Amino acid sequence: MTDNPFFNLDDLERWDQIAPAMDPPARLAVIGDPIAHSRSPQMMNAALRKRGIDAQYIRVRVPPGSVKEAFRLFARHGFLGVNCTIPHKFEAMKAVDAVDPLAAKLGAVNTVLIRDGKFAGFNSDGPGFLRSVEEAFGKRVRDLRVLILGAGGGAGRAVAVQCALEGCPGLILANRTLAKAEPLAAECRRLSARTRVETCRWDDDALREVVDRIDLVVNATPLGMKEGDARVIDSALIRPSHLVFDMVYRSGSETPLVKSGRDAGAKVCDGLTLLLHQGAISFAHWFGEPAPLEVMRAGLMSAA
Ligand code: NAP
Repeated sequence: MTDNPFFNLDDLERWDQIAPAMDPPARLAVIGDPIAHSRSPQMMNAALRKRGIDAQYIRVRVPPGSVKEAFRLFARHGFLGVNCTIPHKFEAMKAVDAVDPLAAKLGAVNTVLIRDGKFAGFNSDGPGFLRSVEEAFGKRVRDLRVLILGAGGGAGRAVAVQCALEGCPGLILANRTLAKAEPLAAECRRLSARTRVETCRWDDDALREVVDRIDLVVNATPLGMKEGDARVIDSALIRPSHLVFDMVYRSGSETPLVKSGRDAGAKVCDGLTLLLHQGAISFAHWFGEPAPLEVMRAGLMSAA
């Protein structure tokens, strides 16, 4: 295994010099910018070892605008697949040769399968979110009324569309820039006649009006990743009956939203659960077999 925290595009250009020193060979990667914080290698490498696959998973920092070039280099160097994280999920969708129908609906690609120099794009965030909610709360999204805070980014969009595809009874989309949530709301209405879809201004007064008719609160913004970030929601608005799902995770500590939810007596789940389940779905896309979930979970936790 490599101890390198991450590689970059220049390294991929001269991969022929780097690769001989790598054992097992790098065959999978996560790309993003920044990327050093990603905990995906710990869980993916644990899974590869468990399955006896002679490959390792690395991090590569790829700047915006260079995703297609990175894919070309990965294919040239014999990589099997790639995960894409912030900010590459939209760019990846344009850079692949074929987009899986679910990824097309969710509007983003976070998993790429490389075969014979061609790239197929999938989305494991949406289905990973469903599995995470089931695992953390013992509930199915189709039975929950959901509030998404941050319905203007890729993660918020994927979760909103996945909730609509499940036919959840209620979906409230809040976003700093409300205008961005409106077209998404219209799309969710088209996808599910059963779902009552609303948009909501993101301020305390507007949220106070809606919190008593929701079950699940989702943070789909990057707020909480960094010390000093603004709060996602006033903790006084969190009810003990709420299920609080933060897509964000932090190294070694809980996120402020998870802490607020716990203090309010609500059930909570942070982004590590999502990271695990979306990663397991990516693994299944690459290898055509279920991932060793508990081994991946242990690998993820050992990185804390
Ligand atoms: P993104 O595109 O950067 O998210 C943009 C969204 O966040 C928009 O709705 C934006 O509002 C809002 N936002 C950004 N800064 C804000 C601020 N200061 N105040 C209020 N709203 C703000 O990122 P993304 O790809 O959607 O991902 C969002 C988060 O989910 C990231 O932290 C990502 O790491 C996490 N995530 C985690 C997993 C996992 O496996 N755990 C998977 C996917 C995503 P405007 O529209 O107003 O700009």
